[in-house]
Amino acid sequence: MLLTAWRRAANWRGWAAAPALHDAFDAKKAFAYISQVVSFGERWPGSPGHQKTQALIKQVLAQDGARIETDDFTATTPRGAVPVHNIIGKFNVTADPKQQIFILAGHYDTLFKPGFLGANDGGSSTAILLSFGDALVHQKTKMQIWLVWTDLEEAINSFQGDDGLYGSRHLAQKLKTAAVVPRIKGFFLLDMIGDKGLGVTRESGSTRWLQDFIAQAAKQLGYSQYFFQDSVAIIDDHVSFAKVGVPVVDVVDAQFGRMGAGFDGMGEFHHANTDTMDKISAASLDIVGRTILLTVELLDR
Ligand SMILES: [Zn+2]
Repeated sequence: MLLTAWRRAANWRGWAAAPALHDAFDAKKAFAYISQVVSFGERWPGSPGHQKTQALIKQVLAQDGARIETDDFTATTPRGAVPVHNIIGKFNVTADPKQQIFILAGHYDTLFKPGFLGANDGGSSTAILLSFGDALVHQKTKMQIWLVWTDLEEAINSFQGDDGLYGSRHLAQKLKTAAVVPRIKGFFLLDMIGDKGLGVTRESGSTRWLQDFIAQAAKQLGYSQYFFQDSVAIIDDHVSFAKVGVPVVDVVDAQFGRMGAGFDGMGEFHHANTDTMDKISAASLDIVGRTILLTVELLDR
């Protein structure tokens, strides 16, 4: 609050620089993006809501001046052939073939489950990436920043064998084949980070030194209490990138609502039709959005 007031005064005097990347993050807009995608209804691959979400992502990326690419293929699943569409928005791409790359990712598909709207699971990841795109306009980074919306993260039946993570697995393999992996400095996956009762877990399969950068940024912003107070292993899209040798962090709140016997292992609202807008807060999006973008600034030095 104080800083914002100072900036306004500074701008009025005409000598302030553009805000830092993390200060360009707009949590209210991120919240509005979640409302918008939830209003599209169910967003499983092939559904009308899924197509509307794709259109929104491409529209925002175009407005933000990103280089838009897609990774389209047909996945073989227990439900048969499913067309999958990953969407990539690239920022600050230079002509340097060795320029480093940092990836911020999240899934935009929702469960194949009647009535499931996924405000947090699917909605929050889609929306925070859209707001990252908006924040990156006019922001120069040394690294290329890729925003990646993965598709068909959710398992058709359950996360066993190759069921689930279809989109990220395909994209990670593609980047490995193209010999792009050595240029990728890191990969942050955002998942279920809109929860009102925010607590980002120290996911135990993630890369420790990259998590430490996030902890440093959180501390700098006074948000330490919201990060890494618990630790658990989670199967999520970061696993696909870890497997091809990319340093990864799953930035995930693994406790959504009450925990305990009778509830899902990730909380009472996880994969339940009660994963709705009333469980989301702009304050949580602000904490995660600003912390992650400050981390990117720290890594870009
Ligand atoms: Zn899920």
